[in-house]
Amino acid sequence: MDNEPYIVFGSPLIGRGEIDAVVRTLESAWIGTGPRVQELQTAMAAYTGAAHTQAVSSCTAALHLSMLAAGIGPGDEVITTDMTFCATANSIVHTGATPVLVDCQRDTMNIDPAAVEAAITPRTKAIVPVHFAGRPVDIEAIGAIARKHGLLVIEDAAHAIAASWHGRKIGSISDLTCFSFYVTKNMTTGEGGMVTTNRPELAEKIRVLGLHGMSADAWSRFSDKGYRHYDVIYPGFKYNLTDIAATLGLEQLRHLDEWQQRREALWQRYDQAFADLPVVLAPPPAPGTVHARHLYVLLLRDDAPCSRDSLMAGLHELRIGSAVHYRPLHVQPWYRERFKLRDEQFPNAHWIGERTVSLPFSPKLGERDIERIISGVRQLLGS
Ligand SMILES: *Cc1c(COP(=O)(O)O)cnc(C)c1O
Repeated sequence: MDNEPYIVFGSPLIGRGEIDAVVRTLESAWIGTGPRVQELQTAMAAYTGAAHTQAVSSCTAALHLSMLAAGIGPGDEVITTDMTFCATANSIVHTGATPVLVDCQRDTMNIDPAAVEAAITPRTKAIVPVHFAGRPVDIEAIGAIARKHGLLVIEDAAHAIAASWHGRKIGSISDLTCFSFYVTKNMTTGEGGMVTTNRPELAEKIRVLGLHGMSADAWSRFSDKGYRHYDVIYPGFKYNLTDIAATLGLEQLRHLDEWQQRREALWQRYDQAFADLPVVLAPPPAPGTVHARHLYVLLLRDDAPCSRDSLMAGLHELRIGSAVHYRPLHVQPWYRERFKLRDEQFPNAHWIGERTVSLPFSPKLGERDIERIISGVRQLLGS
């Protein structure tokens, strides 16, 4: 057992194609934001069906720029889910606005539309739903609430590339959608992200705000079109993606649909292998939707023979990594203290946060890895 390789949670699948393509970019005349980034933007527009795409350095940057482009700032409130990664709410805080956290549904783990509606005040400017684990939120319900109250919808789709809602890909539906190409996500550029939108004026604001507030980017100044002056029209941010990263992304995107099939197959296999254990498995996706199968999550029932943390420690001893998505925001000290949050306000997120564990789940896993993960979980949770 000791000489079995450690199964690293979220290790990305990087093939010869990625390596060769990145080397070609490194050997080219330009490695900064340039033609490869433009290709990735075009490819993401084709993939999602969105009219406009803007590559950025992370999904956190994508969320921050989306809020700013939407005009969100001090005095405004933005409603999001308690059951998410801190970046979703941090990016609201960074604009000066107030994040209003609401509970998730216990089964889908997605934001509860009824809780969203109940949290709306005259200061509310936007709703930021998160497609948890890759399961599309009920974007019709959220969209209807937004229209009724004149709010923007900014989707945090960090988990949801490849997900769709009744024939429409996530990224083509709401005002703004933010994707992550972080290392553990379904496709990676090392670090990176993308904003998609159908609204040209928002796309243009995001482009300018994401690169110092400059009216023209470096590639358009230094390329074979000759030098051109730029104007600074806003004190913007440094949130651009490099051509090195975009090259990796272009290769990853080519594999995405094939990887999605492998994720589906592994999901079914895990579900069968764990069906008789004292765990709650995720429900199937709603009819007409495609789940991006980003995270495979087990919820330990009260009759499980060990706690979530001892399961994770046991897996670690078997040289298997695992993760928690998430201990909800209301238990994170800054949010808890700043907004005086209590566990009772978030019964579902709190319940999930105490018993959830994410297993290694990626097309990189080989047959031997999968067998070790299944037998490790069964050994630790079998009674
Ligand atoms: C990963 C993640 C982010 C942040 O993505 P980065 O690209 O690392 O900035 C935001 N929201 C959710 C839900 C995430 O999982």
